[in-house]
Amino acid sequence: MTYRGRFAPSPTGPLHAGSLVSALASYLDARAHGGSWIIRIEDVDTPRTVPGAADEILATLAHFGMVSDETPVWQSARGDAYAEAFERLQADGFIYPCGCTRREIADSLVHAHARHATLAYPGTCRDGLHGKPARAWRLRVPDGDAAVVTFEDRWQGTQSQNLANEVGDFALKRADGLWAYQLAVVVDDAEAAITHIVRGADLLDSTARQIHLQRCLGVPTPSYLHVPVVSNHAGEKLSKQTGAMPLDRSTPLDALVQAARHLGIETRETEYLDAFYAEATAQWARRFGPHSGPESGPK
Ligand code: GLU
Repeated sequence: MTYRGRFAPSPTGPLHAGSLVSALASYLDARAHGGSWIIRIEDVDTPRTVPGAADEILATLAHFGMVSDETPVWQSARGDAYAEAFERLQADGFIYPCGCTRREIADSLVHAHARHATLAYPGTCRDGLHGKPARAWRLRVPDGDAAVVTFEDRWQGTQSQNLANEVGDFALKRADGLWAYQLAVVVDDAEAAITHIVRGADLLDSTARQIHLQRCLGVPTPSYLHVPVVSNHAGEKLSKQTGAMPLDRSTPLDALVQAARHLGIETRETEYLDAFYAEATAQWARRFGPHSGPESGPK
């Protein structure tokens, strides 16, 4: 198998210490496996995309020593691929139009006394729109035992989610007409033949959905590794919304050493990016490399 990994930032703002951890982990895993590392700009959610942020992210990553092995992929240029996958799912009867507003979904959950359940879509439009106009398109999740998706995460261990109880049929095309992240990410990972996904643990909860969608599309499931997210002093996940500062390009090694430490890697002091990466890759390889023990390869 040829290892192919990726880092997939959303250009909603500059890179910060949290996104650097995900970038570094995916980069070290690719290097530890002697594989390729590809950057994908996830600008499918156009209202959240900040003009210029993608170029700034690419420039910062390059400055920090991480350059894509192939031309970066931009989701905004991939609409035809998403439409093609969508049409295939439609032809195979996996998706249906949904006319529910957020308010209606919340109300029907209250009526079902599901107040303490997570906000799983209750399947109102599964059998028809009930005269309402179509808003979003949803992918059916299986019922019963088949709703449970289990996978082996290389960092977090065995993970299991009941899609029917915890998520419900989920949107692939949003009410605003945009392709949903779940569709774009699965189509792109499959087309790029990604074998290993390494990303932040905030996406752990999306993985079962993505595996289910891979099965509907008949594409392989990569192996997964979710690294712990970086939190601020208030214990919130570091993000632009929670006040994360952009990375300082004048001191790349300081930020890289911090990011590595978050991943459990202690590197010796050095002034050189090459020396940092050599040592960090060697340490990562001991824990997660191809010779580090039984690895959960793609199933
Ligand atoms: N674009 C997503 C984010 O920045 C990451 C998607 C992924 O790695 O699957 O949160």
